[in-house]
Amino acid sequence: MAKIRICHLYPAHLNLYGDRGNMLALCRRAQWHNIDLEVTPIEPGESINFAQCDLLFMGGGQDSDQKLVAADLKKRQAELHKAVEEGMAIFAVCGSYQLLGHYYTASSGEKISGLEIVDLYTEAGPKRLIGNAVVKCSLWDPPRTLVGFENHAGKTYLGPSLQPLGEVLIGYGNNGTDKKEGAVYKNVIGTYLHGSLLPKNPWLTDKILEKALSYRNQVFKPARLDDSIEQIAHDSVIKLATSKRHKKLSSRV
Ligand code: GLN
Repeated sequence: MAKIRICHLYPAHLNLYGDRGNMLALCRRAQWHNIDLEVTPIEPGESINFAQCDLLFMGGGQDSDQKLVAADLKKRQAELHKAVEEGMAIFAVCGSYQLLGHYYTASSGEKISGLEIVDLYTEAGPKRLIGNAVVKCSLWDPPRTLVGFENHAGKTYLGPSLQPLGEVLIGYGNNGTDKKEGAVYKNVIGTYLHGSLLPKNPWLTDKILEKALSYRNQVFKPARLDDSIEQIAHDSVIKLATSKRHKKLSSRV
C-alpha cells in the first residue's frame, strides 16, 4: 500500500481562514485513494526528521506568527533545502508561502528573512488584497480553475525562471498587478489562496498527493471518485466572486 508521511508545521500558529481544512482534505482523499497516511504536527522547537517526511504542509499566518515561526524555520533551513532539492513536497499557503522566498517586509517595516527555497520576495503594500479569487492553472493537463479566498498585505514577486501556479482571472494573486498567482518549484507549491483551498479544488489535492508519492518513487493510482459536491462548492465561489456585490466590496478595500 502506498504511504505518505505528512509533517504539519506549526498548526498552532499557522491557520488562517480555514487552512486546517486542507489537512482534512489531504487525509480524506488519501484514504479514498487507498493511500496510508501518517500526520505529524510540529510546533516551534520540536524535533523533526525531514528524511522521514514526504510532504510538509504550512498554513497562513499573521505577521507576528510569521516572525515567530521564521526563527524556527531558519534553524532547519539547510535540512529543508536538501530535502526540497531531493524532491520532498511542500504545500504552503500565504504567510508560509512568503517565508519560502528570500524575505518578507511587513507593514511595520520589519524584514523577516525567508528560507530562500524559491526565488521570490514579498513586500507589504499600503492596501490589503482581500476577496474571493479565481485562478486559471495550465501547468498540468487538463487546465483547471482554482478558487479560494485571499487576504494579504504582502505583494510577492517571482524571479524570472520561477513558474507561477496560475493566472489570476478574478482577484489579486501574488501582487495585484502581474496576474500571477502562487509559485511552483520542483515538488513545492505555494499559493495565496485560503478558504480552505483543497476541499473546493480536489484536483489540486490529488496533485499534491501525487507529488508527495513521487518523492520516494511511489506511483499515484487514483480511485474513481465522485467530486460532484466539491464541484458545487467550487462553482459557488465563482458565482460569489463574479457577483456585483462582491466586486463592489473588493473595490472598497
Ligand atoms: N501576514 C501576511 C500578509 O499580510 C500573510 C497573511 C496571511 O497568511 N493571510 O501578507
